[in-house]
Amino acid sequence: MARLLTIVDSDFALDGGAMMGVVPRALWEKQHPPDPRNRIPLVSRFAVVDDPDAARVWLLDCGLGRDWNPKELDIYDIRPRGTDARTLLHDAGIAPDSVTDLVLTHLHFDHAGGIARRDPTGKLALAFPAARHHVQASHWSWARSPTPKDAASFRTDHIALLEASSQLRLVDGSGPLGGAVSVRAVHGHTPGLQLPLVDAAGGPYLFLADLVPLWSHLRLPWIMAFDNEPLVTLAEKRALLQEAASRRWVLISEHDPGEATKTLEPPVPVLHR
Ligand SMILES: [Zn+2]
Repeated sequence: MARLLTIVDSDFALDGGAMMGVVPRALWEKQHPPDPRNRIPLVSRFAVVDDPDAARVWLLDCGLGRDWNPKELDIYDIRPRGTDARTLLHDAGIAPDSVTDLVLTHLHFDHAGGIARRDPTGKLALAFPAARHHVQASHWSWARSPTPKDAASFRTDHIALLEASSQLRLVDGSGPLGGAVSVRAVHGHTPGLQLPLVDAAGGPYLFLADLVPLWSHLRLPWIMAFDNEPLVTLAEKRALLQEAASRRWVLISEHDPGEATKTLEPPVPVLHR
């Protein structure tokens, strides 16, 4: 049976108000104490699935990566853990070159920054050149011409690198990707956000990505200001969390600095504030 591990690539921080949307600071500041620049602590966590029955090793997102200049490191308070995702994988007992598939939930830089790394000459290259990179087709078209609202969330140089490679695999909606991994597509945060659902020991696991970025966002009205269609997020969150509770899926948080996983008990606990 497949085996799933979670790994934190980096600590970072984003504006607390942007993370919490319409929720007043008085309600979130105790759980998420902001720094003097009003940023709250986050992590970029990815998962690796060793899937021997399918002879595949999957990454679910790949962290912020290391391709950041000093100004960006300061703005987002990026503090990498370890050399890079390849080293973190090696330390967890997974050979980085054994990765066959990289499922990108979406291309926002805090999820997909790790697709690229600089070679010793400073040239940008794929960090996992042998892996198929799975992206929803609707998200791919969006990311190549985002709106002024979300353009800052994309690294156009990384997207161009992926486009020029032969490793992009476009996925059309929800369904199996092969082996232990399938995806659920949702569209409120950004068009074509895909949430991996993994049949692995101790699971099934649902990788929440930015549908529920922090455990605080399990409450239905807690929706990031980054989301393009907040009411769509609300409906998608309600439906998926109810399904997760009834099927006893283990939820994985990509950004919560606390525990990596959580299981909801049916009926779904208080989801309002
Ligand atoms: Zn996002």
